[in-house]
Amino acid sequence: MHAPTAPTLPSTGHCIFCDLIRGAAEVSICYEDATAIAFLDIQPVNPGHVLVVPREHYETLQDIPGDVGLHLYQVATRLIPVVQTAAGASDMNIVVNSGHAAGQNVMHYHIHLIPRRDGDGFDVPLPFPGSEMPNRQQLDAMAARVGSMLRDPLASHR
Ligand code: AMP
Ligand code: ZN
Repeated sequence: MHAPTAPTLPSTGHCIFCDLIRGAAEVSICYEDATAIAFLDIQPVNPGHVLVVPREHYETLQDIPGDVGLHLYQVATRLIPVVQTAAGASDMNIVVNSGHAAGQNVMHYHIHLIPRRDGDGFDVPLPFPGSEMPNRQQLDAMAARVGSMLRDPLASHR
């Protein structure tokens, strides 16, 4: 596991979410406190698609200090039923794209709250149709590997 890092400037030198947070561009804020801010996604999957974002610039899940990550999750948990009702949605996806390979486009950590309704056409296809099912031995081996790394944090750096 990587140690959480201090907030950094974005590696590109520019971050649209940092711009929004410092008031340099238009944004529709639905919640804010000293650590977190939540605003409406500019290109929503459905009406009420909200992003929960740390005020400080952290890129991915691995960079977020534990207390900040916990706080963002608590804010998301508080917002979920309210956003769902406000959007008139029956259900909700919570999505974090952490890192380029995981589909993150804005490199300032954020949690998507995506209100859902039947037939809206959005999909997070799990189980992944292109995957093969591992056998129990393979699943057990991965579970044991993760378990042993949790007991010996240094192992995750090897
Ligand atoms: P991700 O692909 O997980 O990094 O998601 C980035 C999200 O940020 C997308 O859903 C975008 O629509 C959203 N987004 C990008 N620019 C803005 C903006 N200026 N205001 C609000 N949402 C934005
Ligand atoms: Zn940023």
